[in-house]
Amino acid sequence: MTNAMPSHEQISGRVVRTTLLEPGGGEGWEVSRGQVMRIVDIEGQQVGDLVCFNLRRLEEKISPENTISLNRTIRPTTGHGLWSDEANLLMSFVADTCGVHDLLAGACSRYTNKRRYDKDATPNCRDNLAAAARPWGLRWKDIPYNLNVFMNVPIGADGSFRIDAPKSKAGDYIDLRAEMDVLVILSNCPQLHNPCNNFRLKPLKVVIYEPGE
Ligand SMILES: [Zn+2]
Repeated sequence: MTNAMPSHEQISGRVVRTTLLEPGGGEGWEVSRGQVMRIVDIEGQQVGDLVCFNLRRLEEKISPENTISLNRTIRPTTGHGLWSDEANLLMSFVADTCGVHDLLAGACSRYTNKRRYDKDATPNCRDNLAAAARPWGLRWKDIPYNLNVFMNVPIGADGSFRIDAPKSKAGDYIDLRAEMDVLVILSNCPQLHNPCNNFRLKPLKVVIYEPGE
């Protein structure tokens, strides 16, 4: 076992569930309205690909495009929301110790890994997300594009796009408060063919809690 549970990030409230997401893993959580989901980058420089659904009506789901346009930024952080394809607020950023996340890069897939790197049958976030969402009856094609937590995608003044190593440091976290009952699926990104995870796969920690005083 690793010493994977840092003590430096404090939870103010009642912890409902804690999950250690192993490198390359994927998992789903039902998060009730008012509860907070904390995603901790335990060692730093590890990306998590996150999708979110209205738990009561799973066809309503996160829209990166609405999230960009309604937040008026491609850089979501504290005070911004995750918005649905029906322009409803799914979750809100209530804390963010990193400040560098991405809404443009999408999730890595077996198809993009083949296209970009000529690699077959690679572990990837789209398949991870689909596998973790299967217990809720969702299929691969039901998985929307996503928020990339801790992913660093600098956009040049000329519109150029590239993937760099994350800015996140050990123990960095975001807190997302559910603004309705939601289903959240998170893939611990297994990408090793670009600097997305700085070429080493690390665990992530997820804590669901009821905020207190
Ligand atoms: Zn990925």
